[in-house]
Amino acid sequence: MKILVIISILLFTLSCESEDLNQTQTELEQDANVILLTLDGVRYEEFFNSDIFNRYWSKHAHQSTVLGHPNKQSKVRIANFSVLSLPAYKTIHSGKRSFCFTNNCGFPKEETLSEKLLRVHNWHQSKVAIISSWFNICYSAVRSLKNVLNSCGNKPLRLSDHDEININQTIDLPSWEGRKDKYTFQHAVKYIINHRPRFLHLALLDSDEWAHKNDWKNYIKSLKKYDLYIDQLFKLLENLGDYGNKTTVIITTDHGRGKGKKWTSHGKTWHARKIWMALKGPNIPHKGPIDHKYEVNHLHIRPIIELLLGVKDIYGKKRILKLFKDQLIQ
Ligand SMILES: [Zn+2]
Repeated sequence: MKILVIISILLFTLSCESEDLNQTQTELEQDANVILLTLDGVRYEEFFNSDIFNRYWSKHAHQSTVLGHPNKQSKVRIANFSVLSLPAYKTIHSGKRSFCFTNNCGFPKEETLSEKLLRVHNWHQSKVAIISSWFNICYSAVRSLKNVLNSCGNKPLRLSDHDEININQTIDLPSWEGRKDKYTFQHAVKYIINHRPRFLHLALLDSDEWAHKNDWKNYIKSLKKYDLYIDQLFKLLENLGDYGNKTTVIITTDHGRGKGKKWTSHGKTWHARKIWMALKGPNIPHKGPIDHKYEVNHLHIRPIIELLLGVKDIYGKKRILKLFKDQLIQ
């Protein structure tokens, strides 16, 4: 009998929470869009430095909610055991801790975030895209390259008007495998203007590559470039009227890096588990860096995106109920 009572209380609580979530979802901006911008291997030490991310901190942070500030009670971590890129991106797109422990795991077997969005909303193929400087982002975001519009690494973006960028990116190669961020960003800007995506993952990489080369000067230079890109992205959205007004931008990183002399790497240092996240959009409070009670990690990203984009059966929805208690979303 006791067990029955406990189960019915539990079911009642869960259904109330689901109703709360449904209610919240109907109150959110309809026809919303999300741009997920990831900056590979950018430490919180640099992201929260207003000399480096100058435009962001002077113009955009106060209109955002920012998590992971070292002077706040704000715990933001990676969710995986291994502190590597592919496991982190896989967690972001799958919504669960991945069993991938290297950067060499292949395509996922279960439906990814982008694939689900296309299926449940029946959106045109051009409305969801993965545009990344590192090819392996595609190993996290799609089960097959045919499923979602993509341009990962140095692969062309097969849309009209992108020919020139497709050619330039093959002539001007970086010294690592992949594509220079400047071409990835150019693709993204053109794609946003011409196709107004409902969901885009724009994934940049230069930062991590320069850091692994122990090149502090170019690491910082790439971060200052990201600061410029973020500013340009927000300006672009401001100029896109209703579309821009309904777009939420989530900026984060796949992992941090080591402290002091260990700043060049991340795989074997606990410190690199510390990350940060910044959200800006119609339903995101204008609070800047906040204190919050519960840990936020990569597992929260997929349910937040599904919530904002009106998916009814949100994958991992229990994770975001706590975020409401922390008032991360209004
Ligand atoms: Zn790395």
